[in-house]
Amino acid sequence: MLAVFGHTNPDTDAITSALVYARLLTRQGVEARAYRLGELNFETPFVLREAGVDVPDLLPTLEAGAAVALVDHNESAQSVPNLTELTVMRVVDHHKLGDLTTAQPPYLRFEPVGSTGTLLLKLHREAGLPVERADARLMLSAILSDTLHFRSPTTTPDDREAVAFLAPVAEVADVEAYALAMFAAKSDLGDTPAETLLRMDYKVFPFGDPTRPQSVQQWGLGVIETTNPGYVLGRQAELLAAMDRVRAEDGLNGVLLSVVDILNETNRTLVLSATEEKVLREAFGVEMAGGLADLGGRISRKKQIVPTLEAYFTPTA
Ligand code: MN
Ligand code: MN
Repeated sequence: MLAVFGHTNPDTDAITSALVYARLLTRQGVEARAYRLGELNFETPFVLREAGVDVPDLLPTLEAGAAVALVDHNESAQSVPNLTELTVMRVVDHHKLGDLTTAQPPYLRFEPVGSTGTLLLKLHREAGLPVERADARLMLSAILSDTLHFRSPTTTPDDREAVAFLAPVAEVADVEAYALAMFAAKSDLGDTPAETLLRMDYKVFPFGDPTRPQSVQQWGLGVIETTNPGYVLGRQAELLAAMDRVRAEDGLNGVLLSVVDILNETNRTLVLSATEEKVLREAFGVEMAGGLADLGGRISRKKQIVPTLEAYFTPTA
């Protein structure tokens, strides 16, 4: 049995891609089962309800050598703690390649598209398998979620074509209205504790030159995508306290939390200390006011934040 899972702090793409890929593999004669590596955000339960699909189980502890398939991630820092002991058979992903190594020749599918959902549609087509309604709904939702309905600069023509193809199969008549309902569900944060908000869409990245381990810094990068940034910014003090705790607990060099206004396409990032302020100023050339850095229209961590920090921490000679 192949265990299929997306990254820790799962987003909609990480959950739906595990479900869709496990089903696709099973239809192709590979016994596979979807799992999750953490609690769901506020958007994903809405998507699963709409699709009529159950929440996947938490991944149990796997014995060394167990066969796994990774979706929507490949870096060990974002995966199961004992990834290096497991047998990675397959990866379907749209992120930069990290530290992945395998003991056997794996199946790999990487493309710089907006969502793993887009790649899973391609895999259905290449296998000559019709897309079922629930799977169509899951892939459609993943693409809308990851691309913020095509607002993100990560959006490609393949993502737009996939949504146009999937919408009628998924029986979504009004894609714009459906996307807004997803984003509203995601933004309905209630009295969620600040640390949960910080960790909901949160990834740790090593920056620096891996051949000189003493130069490597670990940074935690959180994003809150919301249609109601005023609510999140109203909890600035609590969120800063949570960032301070997480930096200490996880032994990080710095923590950034970006509040992305989905509808207005802006990014205001909370500034924890002089360390983060220096990096934001020097890497992005932005100014701070009121404990916030205005990162303008940089709404994609993957395309507009991480590469800039990589270049900053690893200057080329
Ligand atoms: Mn993801
Ligand atoms: Mn994704």
